[in-house]
Amino acid sequence: MSQKRYKYLFGPVPSRRLGRSLGVDIVPLKTCTQNCIYCQLGKDAPQTLHRSEYAPINAVLGELRHKIQDGPEADYITISGSGEPTLHSGLGRLIDGIRQLTRIPVAIITNGTLLNQAEVRTDCCKADVVLPSLDAGDAETFRKINLPHPQLSFTTFVEGLVQFRREYTGQFWLEIFFCEGINTDETAILNLKTWIERIKPDKIQLNTAVRPVVHPEAGKVEPEKLQRIARLLSPQAEVIADFSGHVGTDVSGSDETAVLEMLLRRPCSLDDICSGLGLLPHIVQKVLAELLKASKITCEEKGQKKYYKAL
Ligand code: SF4
Repeated sequence: MSQKRYKYLFGPVPSRRLGRSLGVDIVPLKTCTQNCIYCQLGKDAPQTLHRSEYAPINAVLGELRHKIQDGPEADYITISGSGEPTLHSGLGRLIDGIRQLTRIPVAIITNGTLLNQAEVRTDCCKADVVLPSLDAGDAETFRKINLPHPQLSFTTFVEGLVQFRREYTGQFWLEIFFCEGINTDETAILNLKTWIERIKPDKIQLNTAVRPVVHPEAGKVEPEKLQRIARLLSPQAEVIADFSGHVGTDVSGSDETAVLEMLLRRPCSLDDICSGLGLLPHIVQKVLAELLKASKITCEEKGQKKYYKAL
């Protein structure tokens, strides 16, 4: 295998929802319609609603062509990464191009705020799985958690989700991110439930701040409480468990580069890195020690786990 560095691809990384996910990153860091309090990409970035050709689609497809030949194999090609992917005006062309290259299913992780636009829905309809977010069932909670662009209205946003569900025949997995004390009381849950009944997702997946986040108010919800909330929703939601994929011996490329590229995207634990890159723990531990020594990464404890993050 070669040691090519990729500008638009990362992983495969362990995804708690998609297994080994080959990430495709098509917008610059923190280019987003929102500024969520739980965002792992930093804080206080200006939101935008401007769709543009942020990354050249041919260059992205060129990297993908190489990566698919290079391995390791992925369960999904996931369009996500450093911001909101539906802000890329070439999203539909990208998925068409991926279809020419591989049969690996395509997923889009989106905050869903642009699904009120017909052309965004047309682009997203090309994917096999779309994973939009809905963290609030009312405008005030939406503002508190997601800090949306001032021109984004809550009703327009959720009506976009409802409309997309009507048009889309693929898998629609709704993610709800819970922040203790903000969207966890009875009223907040009932408001969410009302919208979910209209959206009719195939799955509901509950998440909370298990990784370090920049805003301390994005408080972690304890697993027992998340399980209680899951039982209140319909279809019954699942709490996204920690990824526990196979750790193989398939050492690929430059280990240090691969680990660093992964940590540039988001904080990861030792298990995350081993599973995502197919590396054995002792190799990853060695690489992490070197990166810490060189002050290229930091280590932060959260709960029982240590998370590593690129500087
Ligand atoms: S939608 Fe995602 S990328 Fe955008 S601010 Fe929220 S967490 Fe960050």
